[in-house]
Amino acid sequence: MLYIGSHVSYKKDSQLIGSLEEALSYGSNAFMFYTGAPQNTLRDKIDDMKTIKALQIMKANDLLLENVIVHAPYIVNLANNTDPTKFEFAYTFLRQELDRCETLGIKYMVLHPGSAVGQDRDVALNNIIKGLNNILLKEDTTTILLETMAGKGTELGINIDELKYIIDGVEYKDKIGVCLDTCHLNDSGIDINNFDEYLDEFDKNIGIDRIKCVHINDSKNVLGSHKDRHENIGLGTIGFDPLLSVIYNPRLDNIPKILETPYVDKEYPPYKFEIEMIRNKSFNPNLYNDIINYYKERK
Ligand code: FE
Ligand code: FE
Ligand code: ZN
Repeated sequence: MLYIGSHVSYKKDSQLIGSLEEALSYGSNAFMFYTGAPQNTLRDKIDDMKTIKALQIMKANDLLLENVIVHAPYIVNLANNTDPTKFEFAYTFLRQELDRCETLGIKYMVLHPGSAVGQDRDVALNNIIKGLNNILLKEDTTTILLETMAGKGTELGINIDELKYIIDGVEYKDKIGVCLDTCHLNDSGIDINNFDEYLDEFDKNIGIDRIKCVHINDSKNVLGSHKDRHENIGLGTIGFDPLLSVIYNPRLDNIPKILETPYVDKEYPPYKFEIEMIRNKSFNPNLYNDIINYYKERK
């Protein structure tokens, strides 16, 4: 079964209900959100009544809670412990974020493993392990998904070896998984045209059952560019058919696929139209115009 959606906003007033309604408006049966602004760590209290209401709407729309993903803010860095206050803040914050997931009943939280900054990569990787072991509790029901990174700057988790190294160091292995990101894979040097070879390699080293979410993005940059700039589906260097081969790969069936592609003209969300193309398995050469016209008519 195809579970497809996008990242959506999360607002203080409407909370999970707002995120869900946005997702449904795109025709999604999966979605991802940040529990607040992705670039800061200010978070509002979760209103349980709103969560209950959201769960009812989800049920009525056959949207399964296991296909709802939280993304941790990308500014927390577990890899760098040169400033002990910051390092401690990172794992205290992520622990609270996991608690929010538990409160909402969310099963998966995507995390960027971190950046080494001035440290050696091995030291930084060990810091991530230390941080994760600090955060994870035996009774947790939420799984942390390490995202495959593009290799921008000093990012970690940019290949199978680094992800495997982190996972091997985590004590509660049942609470750790992986989120693939097609733009990041491309930018890190993995050719999406040979995606099955990558999956073979992943399966041999980590195990394919660790993959619990896939971010579907085209890329603005060439293979191995280490840039990380997402492009709309079919309009980047990866292209429509290779992305379809990931989305419909039988080995990743039932795993939620999440679009994180850019808004058109920074204003119009592309997801309704990208999801339509994906469901139809046919590229829409008028994608931009269709999106712009659709939202202009509704203004
Ligand atoms: Fe991410
Ligand atoms: Fe991503
Ligand atoms: Zn990215």
